[in-house]
Amino acid sequence: MLRIAIQKSGRLSDDSLNLIRECGISFISSSLKLKTESTNFPLEILFLRDDDIPGYVADGVADIGIVGENVLVEEGKEELTVEKLGFSKCRLSLAVPKADEYSSIADLEGKNIATSYPNLLQTYLDKHGVKAQIHTISGSVEIAPSIGLAEAICDIVSSGSTLISNGLREVERVFSSQAVLIANSNLNEEKKQILEKLLFRVHAVQRAQRAKYIVLNVPNDQVESVSQLLPGIKAPTVMPLAEEGWSSLHSVVNEDDFWEIIEKLKEAGAQGILVVPIEKMIV
Ligand code: ATP
Ligand code: MG
Repeated sequence: MLRIAIQKSGRLSDDSLNLIRECGISFISSSLKLKTESTNFPLEILFLRDDDIPGYVADGVADIGIVGENVLVEEGKEELTVEKLGFSKCRLSLAVPKADEYSSIADLEGKNIATSYPNLLQTYLDKHGVKAQIHTISGSVEIAPSIGLAEAICDIVSSGSTLISNGLREVERVFSSQAVLIANSNLNEEKKQILEKLLFRVHAVQRAQRAKYIVLNVPNDQVESVSQLLPGIKAPTVMPLAEEGWSSLHSVVNEDDFWEIIEKLKEAGAQGILVVPIEKMIV
């Protein structure tokens, strides 16, 4: 059985659990339990504080885990990375009080900066040749300037609304983060095989999230040109419509590309275009 560590409760929890569920892995979870086993896949789930996940995976207490890159790199364990998962995207940024003048990172020379990410911040300051005093605090970083602890902060930002409500302005992006899957480097053969199976499912889910199933009607003389716009997995499926001279064309398209080619599809005479979500996609 493979043991995965995920965050117990916080900003990674829901997406981590959803990914496991979308892989068709069922389990019974209760907010009180710290450990659960899947009923249909050889997976045991541990629910932990996110900060503890890289250490547990490095030590082999858990075989694999899901954690933010910000935490992983801060703890110096990026070598555990298997792959990026594309959710919980956020950035680590420097911010100063709104009214303060700021023109470049050099303005932070000799200043006090409060953060929960001293290593990531130090790396960034070193890269820019700036010397500053880093004050490591574990939470509520954004109030540090208003209580006189620091002139600047370095904290996680997604929309920026927390900064604004604390009278701060984002001035430098220090690190970009997303959730990553990590694994212990000494998994035995059996566990490696379970991980492979899990990754196969993860990839099918990820591919499906980007892909859409597209159905449209085209005049027969345009089937060729529309097919070139919609190559699909191999080639589109073409079926005759009950109305003479028309075909129905089925294909798979990346949602981002869809908006780019929609005009061309219409120019080529496509009608009745349906775009439908795909649940899983194996190629
Ligand atoms: P824990 O109690 O497990 O230690 P925490 O308070 O340290 O939790 P959270 O705030 O739940 O951590 O954030 C977990 C991770 O989610 C962060 O390390 C980061 O990778 C990501 N994250 C943080 N804030 C956001 C956000 N606003 N949007 C998206 N992802 C975020
Ligand atoms: Mg934490």
